[in-house]
Amino acid sequence: MTDRNQTLFDRAKTVIPGGVNSPVRAFKAVGGTPRFITRAQGAYFWDANGQRYIDYIGSWGPMILGHGHPAVLDAVQAAAREGFSFGAPTEREIELAETIIGLLPSLEMVRLVSSGTEAGMSAIRLARGATGRPKIIKFEGCYHGHADALLVKAGSGLATFGHPTSAGVPPEVVQHTLVLEYNNIEQLEAAFAEHGSQIAALMIEPIAGNMNFVRASVLFMRRCRELCTQHGALLVFDEVMTGFRVALGGAQSVYARLIPGFAPDMTVMGKVIGGGMPLAAFGGKRAVMEQLAPLGPVYQAGTLSGNPVATACGLATLRLIREPGFFEALSARTRALVEGLKAEADRAGVPFSVDSEGGMFGFFLLPTLPQNYAQVMASDAARFNRFFHGMLERGVYFAPALYEAGFVSAAHSDADIDATLAAAREVFATL
Ligand code: PLP
Repeated sequence: MTDRNQTLFDRAKTVIPGGVNSPVRAFKAVGGTPRFITRAQGAYFWDANGQRYIDYIGSWGPMILGHGHPAVLDAVQAAAREGFSFGAPTEREIELAETIIGLLPSLEMVRLVSSGTEAGMSAIRLARGATGRPKIIKFEGCYHGHADALLVKAGSGLATFGHPTSAGVPPEVVQHTLVLEYNNIEQLEAAFAEHGSQIAALMIEPIAGNMNFVRASVLFMRRCRELCTQHGALLVFDEVMTGFRVALGGAQSVYARLIPGFAPDMTVMGKVIGGGMPLAAFGGKRAVMEQLAPLGPVYQAGTLSGNPVATACGLATLRLIREPGFFEALSARTRALVEGLKAEADRAGVPFSVDSEGGMFGFFLLPTLPQNYAQVMASDAARFNRFFHGMLERGVYFAPALYEAGFVSAAHSDADIDATLAAAREVFATL
């Protein structure tokens, strides 16, 4: 049988760099032929050969309801009939802003944009504009999109290619970006001691999903909050991945349960709020957000920002995840998956550690959970790749790189989890 995926990949490579429109899709980390997806429904998608996969990437996070939820589809179709894009404001943008603010008490205002990259880039500009300071702190292994100032030893796709920074970013552009080790309190304190009065923002993935799945420790997060407050820097939570995914109130609600009174100053969002459509946002307190154009001096704009079809998709998605019991069920299903994987690995004598929060998870071929990027990257990549391909052959699609998190949706059934674990048992036995 001809491999349609390979035929399409060969054809793609002649007209699209690397054959893909986002690097991790190329399977460069794991080798082999990327699957070209023809359609998706519920917890599954199908490739160009007609092979079905249980989908544990969910478009890298947005598809929390699974694919093609009928209520979301109806909302999108109705919105599309009313018009694709107007370049003028709509009521749905207000509704979405009100919904987001209602779910995240740390926000008083939000601005809608079209991608997480755009949201992160704009949040940094706003933080610098609002504080009048140049420097930002980011952490190695955290990915905040591909804005120039944030492409400093970034994780995710870049790590595959072994470049600590991207070509095309002049050193001057990143000279104000301090890159620190995740969960390293000493480095954090030293950075504030040396640069405190110059730091506009500390940007962090509170539960990092771009070095697989690594939580900021409670002590570390508390210190981030204290030092930002003490030095007048803004604590910016990048919740593009964790927002409305690890809990209805995002990772900030998880830390607020552990640290009394805890809240970030600004939040960057994407993925779930668009339900699979290009939509992202950033928000914070009114005094900061009112520094944005047209009110304030910080410029930010977008032809497709607050797109009417995307906002309809996002609103329908957020409506469904607010239903009572949604996150309890999603968390339980995700835990069943990771605990089951751990049991199968133990049975086969394969070193394995797992973690999850809400509908987001990570697993490592390591005996204990890593705390930072270097520890994640100490994983046995060859072994991971054998695991990945073994699962893929058995119709289970995990993230094609060991430094990516995974996602469970409300459409994943107990039978899907059982089928995944049965496949894992076979694959672990071969490792
Ligand atoms: N921030 C985080 C935490 C992300 O995971 C991502 C993408 O994966 C981004 C920002 C960038 O978002 P986008 O790919 O929509 O530009």
